[in-house]
Amino acid sequence: MSIVQVKRSATRFDAAAQTARSQAWFGRAQQVLAGGVSSSARATQTGNFPFPLVMEHGSAGHITDVDGNTFIDYLLSYGSVILGHAHARVIKAVTQQMRRGSMFGTCNTVEVELAELLNRMVPCAELVRFSNSGSEAVCGAIRAARGYSGRHKILKFEGHYHGWVDVLAVSNRPALAEAGPRERPHSIPHSPGIPPGVVDDVIICPWNDAAACVALLDQFAGEIGCVIAEPIVANNACIMPLPGFLELLRAECTCRDIPLVFDEIVTGFRVAKGGAQEYFSVTPDLAVFSKALGGGTPLSAFVGRKKFMDPIGRNLVKHGGTYNGNPLCAAASLAVLQELNSSDALATLHRHGLRIIGALQRAARDHAIPCCVQGVGSMFQILFGPDAKPARNYRDLTRTDSAMYDRFRYGMLRHGIHINPSATACWFLCAAHTDDDIERTTRAIDATFWALTQE
Ligand code: PLP
Repeated sequence: MSIVQVKRSATRFDAAAQTARSQAWFGRAQQVLAGGVSSSARATQTGNFPFPLVMEHGSAGHITDVDGNTFIDYLLSYGSVILGHAHARVIKAVTQQMRRGSMFGTCNTVEVELAELLNRMVPCAELVRFSNSGSEAVCGAIRAARGYSGRHKILKFEGHYHGWVDVLAVSNRPALAEAGPRERPHSIPHSPGIPPGVVDDVIICPWNDAAACVALLDQFAGEIGCVIAEPIVANNACIMPLPGFLELLRAECTCRDIPLVFDEIVTGFRVAKGGAQEYFSVTPDLAVFSKALGGGTPLSAFVGRKKFMDPIGRNLVKHGGTYNGNPLCAAASLAVLQELNSSDALATLHRHGLRIIGALQRAARDHAIPCCVQGVGSMFQILFGPDAKPARNYRDLTRTDSAMYDRFRYGMLRHGIHINPSATACWFLCAAHTDDDIERTTRAIDATFWALTQE
């Protein structure tokens, strides 16, 4: 069964009729998985209403749920599956490596080849350390930065997400009532269970505000061990850096000898082969990668200039992990990066993304629904709301009409298009989306906007 019906019709997604098996599986899951899910981002209260869809398989740019509904997928495991689901080259690499042994807990040749490739592709990657999830790589980079600088405070930006672990799960999406003044936000733990001492070490700065940033760097002079930023704020609707802002961070960190860390877990190997640092021509001291790096396998890395990685290299600063650099994920990653390097995949997905962005903008105009789209071709988000202006920071995003986004998302789901349930996340393109997928998506967009005007 397919629920793709590209015609102008009501946008109510008939979940009960079309997703009974997902509902039943979620019922089973709730008995044994806490909250029925394996990540808070998948919980029903974060947007998957009335229950999450349970997926069974994926192929190229499509995923199919347990009821047999097939969707064109723009979630792509939060951008990880950059070549598309079940890509032949990745399957071959993983299968061959599995036959040779998946993990040895020793050095291996595949991790060396992969690190050599990262060194060639990523401007700041003079030295590399592998880990397994984005959060882990962030911990590694923070450890390296603090180990280098001998200072403990971290300056991060309000609304930027760097993983769920204590060290940086602060002010990702704070409630406005507690977030404090716009130019000097409070540090708000993302969850109970994060100790106050950890939170006190995290200084929160408004994104894209040069004056506020310099003021905080001055106020905490001699105490800041690193500055970390998502160069494109993937976890808050693809807010772009204002012209000159990344350059300002670079210059301020250089003159104060503070390591600058780019969190490229989403942007890496997506917005350009060398990540956002190549796209914006601003080179950080350290950077973290995951998602597209593993191409659908759990792999991450923190990389950096020799000077900043040296204390780790000399074993003065510790970093460990049983699964680090395991040849199974490294083989998958090599296959992904070799494919990106030997094809025009990134150009294609960028071009496809621009077509979708164009369709969203056209539909908004034609149907007089106020909204704007921000981001780049390979990752972007639509923001509904009366003033229809791109957001410059987290506070701007609070104008977003997330109820309208939910209605839009259900409309798209009804037309067989799967996007992130969160109004402040983003769409991702993969190399396997075809011209036909994009054409069907643009028609679904028009039909969904039309239906929104009929409700
Ligand atoms: N940093 C960014 C920018 C992310 O988007 C994420 C995850 O979405 C993380 C860090 C944490 O990665 P993981 O979920 O693999 O721990």
